[in-house]
Amino acid sequence: MASKRDYYEVLSVTKTATSEEIKKSYKKLVIKYHPDKNPGDEEAIVMFKECAEAYEVLSDPNKRSRYDQFGHAGVNAGARGGGAGGFQDISDVFDAFGDLFEGFGLGGRPGRRGGAARGPDLQVSVTLDLREAATGCKKEVTVHRHKACGTCSGSGAKPGSKPEVCEYCGGHGQVVQAQGFFRVQTTCPACRGSGKVIRSKCEDCQGSGLQGELVKRVVTIPAGIDHGQSLCLRGEGEAGPNGGPSGDLYIEVRVNEHSIFHREGPHLLCRVPISYSQAALGATIEIPLLIGKEELKIPAGTQPGEMFRIRGKGMPDPRGRDVGDLHVEIQVMVPKKLGDDHEQLLRKLAEFEKVDVHPHQKSWLKKIKDFVTGGSGDDGEDDDDEK
Ligand SMILES: [Zn+2]
Ligand SMILES: [Zn+2]
Repeated sequence: MASKRDYYEVLSVTKTATSEEIKKSYKKLVIKYHPDKNPGDEEAIVMFKECAEAYEVLSDPNKRSRYDQFGHAGVNAGARGGGAGGFQDISDVFDAFGDLFEGFGLGGRPGRRGGAARGPDLQVSVTLDLREAATGCKKEVTVHRHKACGTCSGSGAKPGSKPEVCEYCGGHGQVVQAQGFFRVQTTCPACRGSGKVIRSKCEDCQGSGLQGELVKRVVTIPAGIDHGQSLCLRGEGEAGPNGGPSGDLYIEVRVNEHSIFHREGPHLLCRVPISYSQAALGATIEIPLLIGKEELKIPAGTQPGEMFRIRGKGMPDPRGRDVGDLHVEIQVMVPKKLGDDHEQLLRKLAEFEKVDVHPHQKSWLKKIKDFVTGGSGDDGEDDDDEK
């Protein structure tokens, strides 16, 4: 996820700005970036959404104080988790701010007034191993959500009765309030925007018009998906109140760490141990892949920590671009225990390399003493390659 701009910066106000100053600056900016004034300008839409998101937080004293304390993390912990946060869709902005726009003559989203709002989005997560992420897979998710009540068909009214027009707002779902020199329309408190009231409630849903359900969905996970990315199933979220359209279902993907491969974006990294003799003389070694294996030629004189790249053996790109690479880091193994023959060969090697090594069976106590006094032994061994 790209890093988010500071909300105060977005609204061009200082951290100590009053709510009036924030509102004033916000209104200026939304007029500037309003899609009606900038047809086809993607950047303006992004700015517009950014402003709306920033204003949603900074105009609410609770959210603002959480934002001041914890930054974006403090106000983004909602249904979409660390994923997208904020507004997904330009229409969401109108849902949240339509009232305000009508207040200063920009016009809200048509057809919303008194109509049925869209249901909330839901989020679930699935966990994959790295191999599943590389190949793509299908995963079943279980979602607890609400659908329109079968008894009242989502109206919330007892069968045989009907919801009545709200008297408080005359069925508009909105009431006008004067705030300073602005006329601001807000959601009707009596009917919560639906424009209707239910006198006798449906007994099965207590008037909510909604019924809980547990649904299973099989999600196709594209090959190459990375930890923290989300997929969206449109219309699989909560049903909208009063028969409104359903929200979306977001599937947050988690990918477990692999015991051998470490992922960095499209690339994989693994460490492969080889022996001193292989490093010095060169060798063809077997490299494990997520699926299968591959041979890699190591030239004579390979150094510990040296990296080799096997092209195209990393992770695929979920959007079908290039496949990443496998980076192999060479580790040179030092044997922990030596057989007699092995030890003799190494002593000959040390003689040839003219390096000082411990004599055979030096006592442990003597080794410590030598180490402390800086006596015979250790220094020579570590510096082999510099001689
Ligand atoms: Zn019902
Ligand atoms: Zn009302």
